[in-house]
Amino acid sequence: MFHGVMMQSFQPPRRILMGPGPSDVPPRVLQALARPTIGHLDPEFQALMEEIKAALQRLFNAPEHACVPLPAPGTAGMEAAIMNLLEPGDRAVIAINGAFGGRMADMAGRAGAEVVTVDHAWGEPVDPARVEAALAEAPAKVLAFVHAETSTGARSDAATLCGIARRHGALSIVDCVTSLGGITVDAAAWDADVIYSGTQKCLSAPPGLSPIALSKRAQAAISGRKEKVRNWLCDFNLLMSYWGGEGGRTYHHTAPINALYGLHESLVMLFEEGQQAAVVRHARMHEALVAGLEAAGLELLVAEPHRLPQLNAVRVPDGIDEAAVRAHALAKWDLELGAGLGPLKGQIWRIGLMGASATPWHVRLCLTALCEALAAQGHKVDTAAVLAAADARLAA
Ligand SMILES: *Cc1c(COP(=O)(O)O)cnc(C)c1O
Repeated sequence: MFHGVMMQSFQPPRRILMGPGPSDVPPRVLQALARPTIGHLDPEFQALMEEIKAALQRLFNAPEHACVPLPAPGTAGMEAAIMNLLEPGDRAVIAINGAFGGRMADMAGRAGAEVVTVDHAWGEPVDPARVEAALAEAPAKVLAFVHAETSTGARSDAATLCGIARRHGALSIVDCVTSLGGITVDAAAWDADVIYSGTQKCLSAPPGLSPIALSKRAQAAISGRKEKVRNWLCDFNLLMSYWGGEGGRTYHHTAPINALYGLHESLVMLFEEGQQAAVVRHARMHEALVAGLEAAGLELLVAEPHRLPQLNAVRVPDGIDEAAVRAHALAKWDLELGAGLGPLKGQIWRIGLMGASATPWHVRLCLTALCEALAAQGHKVDTAAVLAAADARLAA
């Protein structure tokens, strides 16, 4: 018996999203999501699927890769990559420099692989020399790493790491969930095997889809597997009977039709702006934010050369209540900031400048809210000077 359950439409509060994702979704994308649902085998929808596949090839710079959006969030891309490439007994080298590398290692273990982790302190980029040593020790089927570690704000050198994988005959898996759209992702130049992403970080669509790209080598490895992929939904052989296109589609699952309208619109917007222009915009907003943070006496976790523009991990000063600052920003400014994970819990804030949340307005609003929240705890900051420092970078 469900006594007195009176449901009403859900009206989300107004929020400004500057955490580790989701980022602000532009009205154009929200409007696209609300367009009429059509059948997933409708010829018009199939044309949309073809357009999205081609757009993803352009997005990843992966003209020779098979690209599809998986019907689940970024973690599904990770799971698809690991489950399709690894079979029981395969050796997998996994670089861990934050939460997401750890998740990959957990999945590889579940796939039955012999997992060799290369562990780093959180906040460091992946060390190519140590990865190379692990691959040189014994042949590995896969090298997996995170390009943009969202839990720490560190950027790793994907080109070098994919090159090392190639030299040692391993297939590379690159987590580009947070990098895609915010910093350069180039599957062809890296000669990367499997790259996946998500929609709610720098693409600024709602969460729920995971664009993935697979090289010809990766596809051959999957067709040559000794046993079936253990995850049915993400089995790339089955998936391509649906998304492959050539020679008619067969039912596999029902594509999340409206979510794909949203992804499509976000890609239209990204190509209108230009991918390189979007990368430059993220870098500029990051520089302005950092100028303001430094003027406020705050420090970043990651050393300058390895910082991600789209995810800024800021050290919590001594004597400041980390959670109270985020609560203040949310209560007074409708502003969502991220907290630290794992060993960084309570130690950092994570400020996202992702996609539509990477604008001068977001930078100024975030700095204003932070200064106010710090002042409320007796940490004196000159808000005008902080904003002036950011403005000087924005004007440069
Ligand atoms: C967000 C994120 C994921 C997981 O994506 P979900 O959409 O939350 O499943 C994986 N890797 C990285 C680097 C991420 O930032």
